Amino acid sequence: MMERAERVLKSYYGYGAFRDGQKKVIQSILDRQDTLGIMPTGGGKSICYQVPAMLMQGTTIVISPLISLMKDQVDGLDSIGVPATYINSSLTYAQVEVRIRKASRGEYKLLYVAPERLESERFIDLMTELEVPMIAVDEAHCVSQWGHDFRPSYLAISRLVEHLPNRPIVAAFTATATDQVRDDIVKHLQLREPDLHVTGFARENLSFSVIKGENKRDVMLDYIREHKDEVGIVYAATRKEVDNLYELLRKQRVPVGKYHAGLSDTERAMAQEKFLYDEIRVIVASNAFGMGIDKSNVRYVIHYNMPKNMEAYYQEAGRAGRDDEPSECLLLFSPQDIHIQKFLIEQSISDPGRQAQEYRRLQQMADYCHTTQCLQGYIVRYFGDDCEDCGRCSNCSTERQLTDITVEAQKIFSCVRRMKERFGATMVASVLKGSRNKKVLELGFNELSTYGLLKDRTEKEIVDLIQLLVAEGYLLITEGKYPVLRLQAKAQAVLSGGEQVIQKMRIRTEPAAKDVEAELFDQLRSLRTEIAKKEGIPPYIVFPDSTLREMCGVKPTNPAAMLKIKGVGEAKFFKYGAYFIEFFKNHNG
Ligand code: ADP
Ligand code: MG
Ligand code: ZN
Repeated sequence: MMERAERVLKSYYGYGAFRDGQKKVIQSILDRQDTLGIMPTGGGKSICYQVPAMLMQGTTIVISPLISLMKDQVDGLDSIGVPATYINSSLTYAQVEVRIRKASRGEYKLLYVAPERLESERFIDLMTELEVPMIAVDEAHCVSQWGHDFRPSYLAISRLVEHLPNRPIVAAFTATATDQVRDDIVKHLQLREPDLHVTGFARENLSFSVIKGENKRDVMLDYIREHKDEVGIVYAATRKEVDNLYELLRKQRVPVGKYHAGLSDTERAMAQEKFLYDEIRVIVASNAFGMGIDKSNVRYVIHYNMPKNMEAYYQEAGRAGRDDEPSECLLLFSPQDIHIQKFLIEQSISDPGRQAQEYRRLQQMADYCHTTQCLQGYIVRYFGDDCEDCGRCSNCSTERQLTDITVEAQKIFSCVRRMKERFGATMVASVLKGSRNKKVLELGFNELSTYGLLKDRTEKEIVDLIQLLVAEGYLLITEGKYPVLRLQAKAQAVLSGGEQVIQKMRIRTEPAAKDVEAELFDQLRSLRTEIAKKEGIPPYIVFPDSTLREMCGVKPTNPAAMLKIKGVGEAKFFKYGAYFIEFFKNHNG
């Protein structure tokens, strides 16, 4: 059976092999076991139910939480020649009936259904006409009130399972790790002795970095400028921050869009659409954006603020590099992010027990920002898996410039002390700069021995240095309306002369000059966009970046060579192969 599964993978998807985790999950489904697959975002969950669905008699029902997600999946299946459709509130009742009739004649291998539909008795009755070997529940954490995306209608799934004349197997998928959510999935979906597989949490094409103590805006702008041809997502914690960053990027003439819950449905749909079709390169978004974004060529995800927990982080960061191409995940940490998240937890959760749990998870997220271990390793262990050091993350890679900033740190600490730990970073910076601003003079700070000690630096540079010392735990910023700087024990040790302060700076890489291959890649990208326009589908559905990349190397000029490329299955070969073969014939000649 597994061999047949591999043949389907090759001929439809054009992929040579299953990933490790996928094999176990698919085996368990083909053995007709209820299955709970826990895999990271981008880990390849869809194939885990799509491939078995194609090998089983009848129509697999897929429950999926979002209309956009369903459409994307069905478009994807369509493009590789797998018969599939969806039923959701975007259709009229008559259209729904037509689709169900076709389904009962066995015309689809997969039928995507919105969970809300299951609340209607009439709809469930209609479903009994189908032969259903499996119900696949995507984003299964939506069934749990402990999860971040609880959807009450997911609770109706078990009713459908009961109602069908022959009980189908149930396969549930999520990227969420907490035990409570797992237990809820098993309980509310009424899984029978399910096989549980936790796999694939290491994402070998992703490089994680935590950047702290540097000016966030500068880091973000530099990064986006250096990667101006690439597609990326910037996540921020609040709507206001999203709006600000969007304006900032727009003024820099970055093709940018924004997405958050405060915008109208139309505005959000437009932004998402433009992003999917590569019309904008960068989207600035709140955490409302993303579930169901299967766009495969996202090259980087920048978190402008630390998210509330590791699940949320890995879910969002995991949207980078679904096509297996090297991609980056940057988290720009500042200690204020912890205050923001605490505030959001207080606002949204009243139950003290749950609040305590969220604080614990927030702490684990903060630990990630401070760990000196391999970041990929930290993530994988958090999710209950294990892996070796990745060699790519900002803790593994040694390409860091180390600068001794002990003297500057001492000046800052003693200034904070002389100002009696009663002022914030801006005021301390003004004094160190030797500013003549009114408040400084009024308070007599120009008389302090630390006044003007850092006059060679700009005030912004001094504030950035202070932020770095906060991020490294030398200083604390108090909470409340007027946050002030406090010295921590670590700072005392520096002041008394024992300890050094070393700043680890990222080495800035200049954008590489475009090589021949990059130019070829750009040409292939334009060809892909042209085809996508003709077909009315997003470019990444035509072929993912990884497929274009491989074509750059192989330069296929005949069908056999083309079919060997990863991502070129038979259907896509027939639809698009000729364009590319033609292109390479002209290119080579
Ligand atoms: P998830 O739902 O787990 O977030 P997807 O199912 O969307 O992830 O898959 C992520 C990407 O990985 C997709 O672009 C998919 O085509 C690709 N992919 C999945 N399995 C394989 C495989 N065995 N070989 C190569 N690419 C794969
Ligand atoms: Mg998915
Ligand atoms: Zn690492």
